[in-house]
Amino acid sequence: MSSRATYNVPYDMNERDRRKKAFIRKRKRKRVLVVLSLFAIAIGLVAAIVVLLVNIIKKNYDERQIRETYVDYTGEYKDIWLVDNSLAGREKKEAFFEIEDEPQEENVVDSRTEKYKNIIPGSKGLVIVDAGHGGYDGGADGHGLQEKDVNLKISYLLKDELELRGYSVKLTRPDDEFVGLTQRASIANALDNPLCFVSIHQNSLDESEGSASGMESWTYDREGCEELGNAIVEAASQKTGARNRGTHFRKNLVVTSKTTMPAIIFECGYLTDAAEAEKLADENYCMLIVEGIVDGIDNFRESYYGR
Ligand SMILES: [Zn+2]
Repeated sequence: MSSRATYNVPYDMNERDRRKKAFIRKRKRKRVLVVLSLFAIAIGLVAAIVVLLVNIIKKNYDERQIRETYVDYTGEYKDIWLVDNSLAGREKKEAFFEIEDEPQEENVVDSRTEKYKNIIPGSKGLVIVDAGHGGYDGGADGHGLQEKDVNLKISYLLKDELELRGYSVKLTRPDDEFVGLTQRASIANALDNPLCFVSIHQNSLDESEGSASGMESWTYDREGCEELGNAIVEAASQKTGARNRGTHFRKNLVVTSKTTMPAIIFECGYLTDAAEAEKLADENYCMLIVEGIVDGIDNFRESYYGR
């Protein structure tokens, strides 16, 4: 005997079954909704974490800045923020090096090659060309130019002009890399009987200090240094028409005090001066600077070494 039969069931079996099935369906729908909601929340969380991680990685990549202490070219310790040169710096550098040669320049180069064709390569002696700053040490900047880039560019032009006119050349910094000041002096001092050492730099002036333009030599009170500084600043300012700001002495300039041959730091111009910065971005103007420097070295060689 079935138990159902013994009770007075309040509703018939069909109704009871239907209600039970409806309840199960409702419960199932509820479960599906809960699972779907949880799933949606999980997807949302994962997406948020991914976006956050991507942003963090991107930010780190864009602004990889490290605070570091370095010795600047005056021998002073400085704290700087280093920016990874894989981004903005490199783009700026490439843009700066993308100066196209004008067609007429070919003829100029040809006539100059013709002019110096009888000089025996390397016969005039060895000149050390030191491109200031480099790598994470950008040096001064102004009007879209970074000193290390301008220095390297002028150094290579100077190397070409020196070689054209019979000098051999050693570059202490042939690339955009950091070379320590003492190391630069060591490289120079290890060379066999060099004529002189010329460190190429660009100047800057804080806006609060007013404005300035022109060229100047910085050196150490040692034999031959003042003569070299004067010879170069005089010839280069004459060639370019830039203001001759003279030769100055400073005791704590590592590359001039620690080297053993006549040595100077030559400040070609002020990046903070709009007109001068525009000229320094122009390869033709840089060529004039370089021709002037070599005129100065020629004069110095003659007066100081009597050759
Ligand atoms: Zn400098």
